Amino acid sequence: MTIGSELRNLPSVERVLNTDTLAAAVDAHGREMVVDLAREVLDGVRKRVLAGSPAPAGHQIAEAVLDLMTDLAEPSPRPVINATGVVIHTNLGRAPLSDAALAAADAVGRGYSDLEIDLGTGRRGSRQAHLQSLLRRITGAEAALAVNNNASALLLGLSALAAGREVIVSRGEAVEIGGGFRIPDVLRQSGCTLVDVGTTNRTYVRDYADAMTEQTGAFLKAHASNFKVEGFTAFVGERELVALGESSGVPVLHDVGSGALLPTDRYGLAHEPTPQESIAAGVGLVFFSGDKLLGGPQAGIVVGKRDLVTRLERHPLARAVRIDKMSLASLTATLAHYAMGEAENKVPVWRMISTSAEDVRARADNWRAALATHQVQTGVEPARSAIGGGSLPGETLPSWTLSVDPSPDRSPEAVLSALRDHSTPVIARIADDTVRLDPRTVLPEQDDDVIRAIATVMAR
Ligand SMILES: *Cc1c(COP(=O)(O)O)cnc(C)c1O
Repeated sequence: MTIGSELRNLPSVERVLNTDTLAAAVDAHGREMVVDLAREVLDGVRKRVLAGSPAPAGHQIAEAVLDLMTDLAEPSPRPVINATGVVIHTNLGRAPLSDAALAAADAVGRGYSDLEIDLGTGRRGSRQAHLQSLLRRITGAEAALAVNNNASALLLGLSALAAGREVIVSRGEAVEIGGGFRIPDVLRQSGCTLVDVGTTNRTYVRDYADAMTEQTGAFLKAHASNFKVEGFTAFVGERELVALGESSGVPVLHDVGSGALLPTDRYGLAHEPTPQESIAAGVGLVFFSGDKLLGGPQAGIVVGKRDLVTRLERHPLARAVRIDKMSLASLTATLAHYAMGEAENKVPVWRMISTSAEDVRARADNWRAALATHQVQTGVEPARSAIGGGSLPGETLPSWTLSVDPSPDRSPEAVLSALRDHSTPVIARIADDTVRLDPRTVLPEQDDDVIRAIATVMAR
């Protein structure tokens, strides 16, 4: 058969639409949408026929249209299981939310809310009100503001306080945070002039003092959250900078990054700067993310002096970066866990971090026993879990992993890919040429899914 006759064999859009398979779809979703999809499928088929493939049957084309429609309606992004052991994994959506945080977003998203109405007076209220009292209580700050994310918080802060002026930054802190977010670029975008002082490894308070002019709008300190400078180093603490700026009214802005509200040292990790410490040191504004070590939804949080926060609230950019109601609701619920002293048990990232290595091992052992009943051989061995998400660089927690025995006919990469392809995708990692899964970052209710995924993949 020639390509020409194959092409003539292809059904028309009309005929595809009239198949039993698609008649119901036309009824449910409207003709226009199904016609669009049918055209798309037929275009693809025509190209393949021109390349020499045989023409598919009409019912196969109709099914392809139905598949495309199913894909379209598929929720996205979809849930995956994080078995990497990296607690805050940016590519996997950072922090999982607590039950209360989810319920709060659900309740507010489902209907109307008192987002910007004062129920006492019936007048217009502020969406920030409830959050502000929690953040004041937790961090000791006079005032607080939440926006879309920490990058926008910083952009807003610098634009509102130092546009058209100079901002002094240590050379060791003019960093790139990841995803192309660079402190010098944010400064430029905010209309500020970067004045970098000191060297990559050592900066002294006299470097800042020497660089101060009439034009100085702020000192900016940024936590080098994704790398560590070790050895012959010196950095200026917040307290010293506050003292330096005080007499001339230059505020210290401190980007602490991950927003650890609990002391990381308590869990055997290096000390991560906390907003509370910066506030206690007298910093003007502290900036941090909602979805890193704070363990809430994506958000950027600013806490600090009342007059400075007010200038941010009144800046035109505030409207452009404002937080949405569902994030606000779940952020408030997350912060309430801290205010109530229950964060370690209720906030998933802290529950993961505070889980002992023995408890992780017990879960890996359970997985192993369950898989043995499926004739899948696995091992359990010591490992390290990382915090990730630009928090605590190089810091790890002692952990245990389940390793899937390598097979001669299947590479670890092939197993990893098959796990990703499972109906509930499982993201694992490879170490020493073996696929490994760390239970620390797998939610307890996902244990059965992990076991099923491994059993299915290894049975093939
Ligand atoms: C992660 C990070 C940011 C960016 O925060 P987002 O909430 O992702 O916008 C900014 N500064 C520091 C120091 C960070 O670690």
